Amino acid sequence: MKCKSCRGPAVVEVRRHNAAFCRNCFVAYVRGQVEKAIRRFEMLRPGQRVLVAVSGGKDSLALWDLLLELGYDAAGLYLGLGIGGYSDRSGELVRSFARERDAELLEVDLRERYGFDVPTAGREGSRSTCAVCGLSKRYVFNRAAIEHGFEVVATGHNLDDEAATLLGNTLRWNTEYIARQHPALPAREGQGGRAMARRIKPLHRLTEHETAAYAFLRGIDYVVEECPLVAGNTQLRYKDAIAVIERTSPGSKAQFFLGFLERAAPLFRAAADPSLVECASCGQPTTGRFCAFCRARAQILGVRLGDGPAERPGESAEGLASELPTEVLPVELYGPEPERAGARK
Ligand code: AMP
Ligand code: ZN
Repeated sequence: MKCKSCRGPAVVEVRRHNAAFCRNCFVAYVRGQVEKAIRRFEMLRPGQRVLVAVSGGKDSLALWDLLLELGYDAAGLYLGLGIGGYSDRSGELVRSFARERDAELLEVDLRERYGFDVPTAGREGSRSTCAVCGLSKRYVFNRAAIEHGFEVVATGHNLDDEAATLLGNTLRWNTEYIARQHPALPAREGQGGRAMARRIKPLHRLTEHETAAYAFLRGIDYVVEECPLVAGNTQLRYKDAIAVIERTSPGSKAQFFLGFLERAAPLFRAAADPSLVECASCGQPTTGRFCAFCRARAQILGVRLGDGPAERPGESAEGLASELPTEVLPVELYGPEPERAGARK
């Protein structure tokens, strides 16, 4: 096979484009796709400062690498979820990536800062492990961005992730969630200034296969293992289903999600977003009195909101713990991914 661009020997095949590339041309192709995504959705200004949420997996490390290579002032954010050896290895790989590139890395440890980790949440709460994990990530990413003065948070969601999310939302005709599925969600103001950072997904045009090949060809050392808690996750089953279709009709996945963005998303645009107020416990944005993260945390720790280590004690919330809603993925944080809510019950 020959490289589509330079006719040299190819090392990666991209079936949906009916193309193959040599190492250098593949790297250029990936960069081109990311630049296109950034331009199309006005994700970043040239050289802008951006906080990249990095898990230690191929997608987010590839994203960090790409943004640095494209000249953005990209700092990393690693959230320690406390998932045993899996989290230890992930954190180590993120730290060594940052050291090698001399890039800034922020770290938050869920247990140290908020008193619980993801495995405990799965045992103690009534919510699914993946739901609490997703909720915690969205919360911490936004909070860290606001506290450290970043206007933008980037995540490594790829085309496979986005197509699976869209399939899940479509199967349930969850039109409110469909309306919010977008590669660039705007910043939002709250009572006291910026409440939500802008949230972007610059890898949404690239498949998992492509980000893996990119990470490999760029010599990025990433965690290959899957999160041990994720087995059976609904999202994974949707990915499998899409892969079956893609095998016989290459390009379906891209048509499904990129076609949605171009032609269908505008039809779902929601009415005005509900206005944001400050969570009475932590001050982060919410549409209710307490944010979903504080409610979940209170339930996991078995404390009443307003008691214990909440950051604004004194504000009593009698009885609230008993009426904790079952809602797991709040619309006010980071765009919902409802199919995860149903996972691992
Ligand atoms: P996931 O929810 O695991 O599919 O991850 C989606 C995106 O969230 C990844 O591409 C990362 O950008 C980010 N992410 C996931 N886990 C972490 C973590 N432990 N620390 C920082 N960012 C993460
Ligand atoms: Zn809160």
